[in-house]
Amino acid sequence: MGRYYRGDINGKFWFGIQTSDDAAYLGVDPEHQYEYYGCGCYVDLGEEVNDSSYCGSCYDSLSEHQQDSQEQPTWFLRELYFYFSKDDLPSLQKEQQRLEKAVGQFMEGYTITGDTEFGFGYDYTIPTEYNKTLITTQQREQIARLCLANLIAHCINEKGVCRFDADT
Ligand SMILES: [Zn+2]
Repeated sequence: MGRYYRGDINGKFWFGIQTSDDAAYLGVDPEHQYEYYGCGCYVDLGEEVNDSSYCGSCYDSLSEHQQDSQEQPTWFLRELYFYFSKDDLPSLQKEQQRLEKAVGQFMEGYTITGDTEFGFGYDYTIPTEYNKTLITTQQREQIARLCLANLIAHCINEKGVCRFDADT
């Protein structure tokens, strides 16, 4: 189990520390990808959903969809979709610098792996001398975010964009 992100970058959100929308703190709002219960179709990206939304491709009415899916509402949030471009680098770098100041001293050993074809990832573990007691929850959140920020920045620099889906 775990929540993953995949695409131009691949990895796992830090359990209990990092939320699925963590990249939104780096200057880009995600698009929401909804999926319908029952038929499993996806709602088009950018399309709004509300209590009376149903899949018009598979059902003739809301009540028909509800009868089949036994769920109300008939949809759930499946993924977040992030799209960073070069235009987003300034706000990303500003946040990187802020985080670097706060927790940069713990980043020893952080390395980026992968390539533009299969996606980038990172290797990192909190150094053992800090891991037990010295680091606060807030610092862990900041470290997790800095790891992700550095990864996204690397991807943009190498590829020009950084697109990924995030499990919710
Ligand atoms: Zn459908």
